Amino acid sequence: MGRTVETAACVAVGSELLGAGRVDTNSLKVAEEVGRYGVQVVEKRVVGDDLERIAGTISGLLGLVDLLVVTGGLGPTADDVTREALARALGVRLVQEAEVEGWIRERYAQFGRTMPQACLSMARVLPGAEVLPNPRGTAPGILVERDGSIIALLPGVPWEMEAMLERYVLPLLEERNAGRQRLSRTLILSGVIESEVESRVRHLYDRFGRENITILASMGIVRLILSAAGVPEEAEARLSRMEMAFREVLGQDLAGVDASGLEEIVLEMLRRREEALAVAESCTGGLVAARLTDVAGASRVLVGGVVAYSNEIKEELLGVAHELLVRHGAVSAEVARAMAEGVARRCGSDWGLGITGIAGPGGGTKEKPVGLVHWAVAGPCGVVARERVFPGTRQIVRGWSANASLDLLRRCISGAVAP
Ligand code: ATP
Ligand code: MG
Repeated sequence: MGRTVETAACVAVGSELLGAGRVDTNSLKVAEEVGRYGVQVVEKRVVGDDLERIAGTISGLLGLVDLLVVTGGLGPTADDVTREALARALGVRLVQEAEVEGWIRERYAQFGRTMPQACLSMARVLPGAEVLPNPRGTAPGILVERDGSIIALLPGVPWEMEAMLERYVLPLLEERNAGRQRLSRTLILSGVIESEVESRVRHLYDRFGRENITILASMGIVRLILSAAGVPEEAEARLSRMEMAFREVLGQDLAGVDASGLEEIVLEMLRRREEALAVAESCTGGLVAARLTDVAGASRVLVGGVVAYSNEIKEELLGVAHELLVRHGAVSAEVARAMAEGVARRCGSDWGLGITGIAGPGGGTKEKPVGLVHWAVAGPCGVVARERVFPGTRQIVRGWSANASLDLLRRCISGAVAP
């Protein structure tokens, strides 16, 4: 039994993966599967079918990770050079192996075909390495250990790669890492910006290890992914300690833990309180309603919504006063408030959300620029409105608007906001 495997790198070989049409998905599968054994993928590379580059990539990663998974380029065609590249990286020569040649011939015989000459290249093996029969194809894989790295060469075809990962690599991790796992927990923050969150939690990076904390931001949502390795109870306990320390610092900015998004968090808060929600959307055109209804069980909370794009619909369906629209314009705090109140009244819900803004690219003025959005929440907290000028494209302005309004709603529900 060798030493514990803690880190891994994935190398995806294939010139088609460098173009615009295809992406490497093998590394996602590898990260998911090895992650169950507490192994963290610390680096990924995509390399074309080029012997020198593949060899250089492999030798560059040797000794830097405990496990190196290379996929693709093991087949019989002229562009399949990964086996040769590994030999070059390790400074050894491949040798023709009669037994492996026999397996491949047999494979072809099963399909009633004779083996093409080109397939002989797949029977070239690396001295001292284990040859891995391919249960779902013909190209065998290779497993070898060098300079503290386990190197697994697996086929590129995802269906074959998965079977071989499961059959040859995971049992090795099971044995080496005996019960060790890497678990993670995601803290979801809203209504904050990444750099500001980071400066507040930076001291916790030192305490819990920079490598165990990842921060991701998108349109007003910041995710802090905490991870811990060890036997499951140990990792869980460590995650709980981390979560507690973060909660203390983050306070009301922490919206929830391990949820798919803000919509799930808001729905759960309202479900517990047995309160209903309705939404009135102008510039987001139903985006908030769509996100809410993406969550299974949303019907227990969301009673309905109105996409109130025109002034007439704002008046007729939401009861927004004509005079408000004339005096303040459709994009105004007054109208956002009236939309939130109106939709709650019309739908008979406890809470109403109203959003109105200028998503762009056209339609802005000096007083009301593109990106200006007003949103409001009406409910037991009274009526609360906010506004901002969001930067970016139409899609981005709409995304920010949806997140900002859900953030205000969750703060109102938790009683953290007063009118
Ligand atoms: P082998 O190792 O068996 O030769 P290969 O990847 O070299 O596999 P190709 O014919 O180049 O064989 O590719 C087979 C299919 O697998 C293609 O559709 C290719 O895009 C896909 N594939 C290869 N590598 C990956 C990857 N990393 N992620 C997703 N798909 C991949
Ligand atoms: Mg290929």
